[in-house]
Amino acid sequence: MPMNATPEHPAAAQSDERSGAQPGAPTALRRTVLIVAAINAAYFVVEVAVALAIGSVALLADSVDFLEDTAVNLLIALALGWSLAARARVGRVLALVILLPAVAVVVQVVLKVGDPEAPAVTPLVLAAAGAALVNLVCALLLARIRAAGGSMVGAAWYAARNDVIINLAIIAMALLTLVIGTGWPDILLGMLIILLNGRAALVVWRLAGEERLAARALAGEDLDDD
Ligand SMILES: [Zn+2]
Repeated sequence: MPMNATPEHPAAAQSDERSGAQPGAPTALRRTVLIVAAINAAYFVVEVAVALAIGSVALLADSVDFLEDTAVNLLIALALGWSLAARARVGRVLALVILLPAVAVVVQVVLKVGDPEAPAVTPLVLAAAGAALVNLVCALLLARIRAAGGSMVGAAWYAARNDVIINLAIIAMALLTLVIGTGWPDILLGMLIILLNGRAALVVWRLAGEERLAARALAGEDLDDD
């Protein structure tokens, strides 16, 4: 992800934003990313609630990604109206907030290693399937405002791919749990997911100070997943 080659001049970033899109596109972009941020925030709450209710480490670890996607899309919306300094402050608070569920995952792992009780399979499968659906819907919403010429479904799948693969892995893990009846698949997948999401807070921290954030989003760049 090329985040180092940022021009230091705000004027350059401004002209870049305008040349990157047709008139009206920033408004459509702002509306869409705000909707996507709201959907991700809502599903973060759902996933955390289910994860804590059934004691699933993997589901809790997956919720970090919903918080990351909330923060990234919120920062894109702020990049269209706020000053860089104000947006950077919000972004750095969001980055710290993302650490909370990440720390909760580590606590859950420590607690469950001593007593690896299996999470309830049905709510686990439903929550993971819901997460896959939410990720696909958000990717389709974003694909509509990005790079108009390309294949929309292809772009949507590319953007959601990593998130959906993890959601499907949780469903597979739930079915394995049904067979072997211990919490170990959940604990191990949860540890893997939190390793994959480990850079989430850092990604948001960096994007907070990214001058060309709105232009990059309009160009259809994948900002949060490598
Ligand atoms: Zn994501």
